[in-house]
Amino acid sequence: MKRPIIAGNWKMNYTQAKTKELIKEIAPLVADAQCEVVVCVPYTNIEVARKAIRGTKIKLGAQNVHWANSGAFTAEISAEMLKELKVEYVIVGHSERRQYFGETDETVNARAKAALEYSLKPIICVGETLEEREAGKTAEVVIRQINAAFQDVDKTSLKRIVVAYEPVWAIGTGRTATAQDANDTIAVIRKALRKLYGKTAARALRIQYGGSMNPKNATELMAQPEIDGGLIGGASLKAEDFAKVVNY
Ligand code: PEP
Repeated sequence: MKRPIIAGNWKMNYTQAKTKELIKEIAPLVADAQCEVVVCVPYTNIEVARKAIRGTKIKLGAQNVHWANSGAFTAEISAEMLKELKVEYVIVGHSERRQYFGETDETVNARAKAALEYSLKPIICVGETLEEREAGKTAEVVIRQINAAFQDVDKTSLKRIVVAYEPVWAIGTGRTATAQDANDTIAVIRKALRKLYGKTAARALRIQYGGSMNPKNATELMAQPEIDGGLIGGASLKAEDFAKVVNY
């Protein structure tokens, strides 16, 4: 049985003090969670978060990683650096990175491979824009993104990878894909993975839904057969909301 995974993406929110406080609030509320629970915090809060999650169910994640190990890449952070801070998960290819920071399918692939090289667990994000959806290109886009992101990623790494299907038009907008739509597109993603790695490996890989997932819609989304978890933005910033999603 696959264990569902719910990860909070805190984005560029909160100071160290607030990080400590929020994790302390979340921890008892998710103590009996059946799923894996992750918080992906800003780089500056990783050390504080690492200490705050000790003895809790919560696992530590970052929000990006560079493909190179070191060098002249101002403001970037390498997989080796994250590993040293005991980070376990790292988001790669979030649509905000693609949209505002020039992330491409190729860089997403390079970042994911760097994460894997240091035994980090990448959460690889894919998803179509509103324009692409309205042009009927959803399947084409997610298949392209999956094929690119998994280029030269070998089958033995798959158990450490999570995919997040995040329709761009649903992120931070309050618009959620219907549970059926989310399920159908995740089925398309899984089919693409099946072509690359075979049936068993594709079935075993966890695919999250992300995009305005919240306490109200989490139960229905998580009940879908293809949905193995959630990547949560806005609702992960309040302990009660995040815990309600985790305990869907
Ligand atoms: C996200 O940032 O990955 C996300 C899904 O955000 P939100 O839940 O706010 O839509």
